Amino acid sequence: MIFYSLRNPEHTVSFRQALLQGIDPKGGLYMPVSLPRISFEPGYQSFNRLCSRLTAQLLQPEVNAKDADTIVEKAFTFSPELKKLDEHLYVLECFHGPTASFKDFGAAFMAQAISAFKPDGETITILVATSGDTGSAVAHAFYRLPGIRVVLLYPAERISDLQEKQLTCLGENITALEVDGNFDDCQDLVKTAFADTALRPLHLTSANSINIGRLLPQSFYYIWSALQVDEPRCFCVPSGNFGNLTAAVMASRMSIPVRKFIAAVNANDTIPLYLNSGKYRPRKSRQTLSNAMDVGNPNNWPRIESLFDQSRSEINKAIQSTSIDDERTLDTIKKMYQRYEYICDPHTAVGMAAAFDYLAATRDNPEMIVVATAHPGKFCSVVEQAIEANCPMPQSLRRLLTIAKRSVKIKNDYEHLKSILLTMNA
Ligand SMILES: *Cc1c(COP(=O)(O)O)cnc(C)c1O
Repeated sequence: MIFYSLRNPEHTVSFRQALLQGIDPKGGLYMPVSLPRISFEPGYQSFNRLCSRLTAQLLQPEVNAKDADTIVEKAFTFSPELKKLDEHLYVLECFHGPTASFKDFGAAFMAQAISAFKPDGETITILVATSGDTGSAVAHAFYRLPGIRVVLLYPAERISDLQEKQLTCLGENITALEVDGNFDDCQDLVKTAFADTALRPLHLTSANSINIGRLLPQSFYYIWSALQVDEPRCFCVPSGNFGNLTAAVMASRMSIPVRKFIAAVNANDTIPLYLNSGKYRPRKSRQTLSNAMDVGNPNNWPRIESLFDQSRSEINKAIQSTSIDDERTLDTIKKMYQRYEYICDPHTAVGMAAAFDYLAATRDNPEMIVVATAHPGKFCSVVEQAIEANCPMPQSLRRLLTIAKRSVKIKNDYEHLKSILLTMNA
């Protein structure tokens, strides 16, 4: 597969380059030049076998079938689960990985791919600024991989206790630095480090959310679940930066017809407003209960536009975007519990509410698959407030409650970060 840069379409790179660079030198996102057609028999069930076949076909000739198997086997030690809630309603649970959000799929695959592609005998350093979920998925994905060191920067006191423990509990090749500043400060420190030639010996690599090595594998669970559901089918995707929706659209181009994509957003409604009015007005993010979707200027939106040749009318034919506020989110968590005894986290609830709105307004009775992006146990206080009952916790999170928080504090000062990085490499 060959990739081009959205800022500079003449500039094409291999998968390895796109993976290790993350972003092109001019700041453009990478996208596949073309997507192959790959068909599977309806009902095809083994998730890992499907992933191996897709990986081999997408990444040939750079990855052969045997290496594809290895990457997939090592990455996906967990699977998605598809549950039927009602005659036409399914939930695709993508939160059974080590950090209980769908971000584990992208992070795990990217980590194994980087491990397979990095130069032999070299130690590389993954440097990431994180505001929460992404960082913990990345940390768990790279944990104990030989020749790879991970340094995460997170803003002090701006992430939840549980998120902080998820970031800091690992140790070994994972270092989490608590920056005395906000998320933008963390990002600025990372940018400065990437531009600093004195850090060349560390072989810095980014693993942020725009890396194509995270998007491609996210398309796998869409294909896998669609094969088990009749047509016509719709996917409803709780969205923030629109990476997960990009993966869904790529999946439909490669393998599975989809009647409509529902892009469910919270009060951060830049995209539904744009699709209605044609005016793209990015703005500051607003805080909501579904905080992993608090994004005012979604960084994967240019990828969606590229998939539809920049045509808003084509996007509107394929995608419906709906904004759901916090009150409706809480109400939906409660209704899902009463009606189906199903406990949703706030992000998934945004998706459920948008899916119900769509189904109420359409007459063609499609099969609706709503993506559950996080385990409810990650957002217990919100969930318990809505359902007035105890919220279940997966084992991986319950373990964290008992451990003490560990972190290394640093000043919001580049020289301080630089000295820490250089000491690590000494
Ligand atoms: C990151 C995240 C989202 C948003 O996904 P995007 O790919 O950024 O649109 C939704 N829900 C949860 C729980 C997340 O962590």
